[in-house]
Amino acid sequence: MIPYGRQEITEADISEVEKVLRSDFLTQGPTVPRFEKSVASYCGASNAIAVNSATSALHIACLALDLGPGDWLWTSPNTFVASANCGRYCGASIDFVDIDPKTYNMSISALSDKLLKAEKLGKLPKILVPVHFAGQPCDMSAIHQLSKRYGFKVIEDASHAIGASYNQIKVGSCKHSDITVFSFHPVKIITTAEGGMALTNNKELADKMFRLRTHGITNEKKKMKQRPENQIWNYQQIDLGFNYRMNDIQAALGLNQIKRLDHYVESRHKIAKLYDKEFKNLSITTPWQAPFAYSSYHLYPITIKTDSNIKIQKKIYDELRNNDIAVNLHYIPVHRHPYYEKLGFKKNDFPIAEKFHLEEISIPMYAILEDEHQYHVIETLKKVITA
Ligand SMILES: *Cc1c(COP(=O)(O)O)cnc(C)c1O
Repeated sequence: MIPYGRQEITEADISEVEKVLRSDFLTQGPTVPRFEKSVASYCGASNAIAVNSATSALHIACLALDLGPGDWLWTSPNTFVASANCGRYCGASIDFVDIDPKTYNMSISALSDKLLKAEKLGKLPKILVPVHFAGQPCDMSAIHQLSKRYGFKVIEDASHAIGASYNQIKVGSCKHSDITVFSFHPVKIITTAEGGMALTNNKELADKMFRLRTHGITNEKKKMKQRPENQIWNYQQIDLGFNYRMNDIQAALGLNQIKRLDHYVESRHKIAKLYDKEFKNLSITTPWQAPFAYSSYHLYPITIKTDSNIKIQKKIYDELRNNDIAVNLHYIPVHRHPYYEKLGFKKNDFPIAEKFHLEEISIPMYAILEDEHQYHVIETLKKVITA
């Protein structure tokens, strides 16, 4: 089976991991801060907090921004559930902003309209979580301007988008946001097996997130609430945090993977270019790219242009699977999951995301996709579409 996405593990990756296994530090040791520095400097952000998943990073990002009961978090319905769940972990209410039919990212005009209405009702969001779907950055300067006007905070869910840029500015720079979150799950651009990271230029938010990833404990004297009675054993828990730490084994893998990040993104662009070219004269909509965006192409989402209502998505999905191509669908709109329907969301609440879900297919896209396999995908799709 040709998967829709997969990691590459090199001999050098294995040897870096092995070095850690033979060292004194298996948990968080010297390699985690080295990995953090490396990602922060790549992105041009001043602080990076490595954790055990992007989900954990989203959670501590929300907590650092004081999200709690009575607050609202808004995100895109076209995302993985974690982008919304982080708000629920904090007891906040969730709402969604429908997507743009061209980029499949949160629609800026839908966002503007919804903010205008929310202001009148006194229900403005405290946090907005734009998601860079498939690796294509959202229109961040528009989002930034709206955040200033309405006073909400911005957490970029950039789980798909390490290596991408917005107007030549690297995603993760936090130029237009308070915090940016990456995922290092194996299907993402680079991997640490499981892992994630939060980046920010705000030192206070960074300190809070460092504490929250490890039980809310500090060992900085000036942060301690009372003078420790015992001068030797001097750490204090000052917030309620978690064990969300990344370990040195994961960090060593990430640190070696990030060396290949630009190369990976270039190879994903090459693959996208060939798909774009080969599907040009077919009734397939290829992923449109905004002029300000340099995508990391985590996914290559296509939709089939059809006038009829026949279930062509299912047919193509099955045909590709029958030909050893394991395509995937991104995403079941978050509000249509039973958990969110119980909270009151229903069909047609966000019709563009729902329509996209019924048409979209993510075809194989990963840095080490072999030419031969890509041509097999192209030829199979051509056959199915014209059949
Ligand atoms: C993968 C993903 C996450 C969660 O990442 P984990 O590291 O598995 O927790 C969150 N948001 C989006 C958009 C994702 O694709």
